[in-house]
Amino acid sequence: MARCVDCLGPDATIHCPSCLGDQAWCGPCAVKVHSRLPFHQLQWWNGLFMR
Ligand SMILES: [Zn+2]
Ligand SMILES: [Zn+2]
Repeated sequence: MARCVDCLGPDATIHCPSCLGDQAWCGPCAVKVHSRLPFHQLQWWNGLFMR
């Protein structure tokens, strides 16, 4: 699994195609980071989005 780019936790399951790069966050960090970016569309990683 990816690491959260904010807290470096091992459970980064949320991806944002509107942010640059292949960043991923855990749930709380994704909400925190995107509280100021309401136009971004977060994607919860599941089978469909896994590469
Ligand atoms: Zn985190
Ligand atoms: Zn974003």
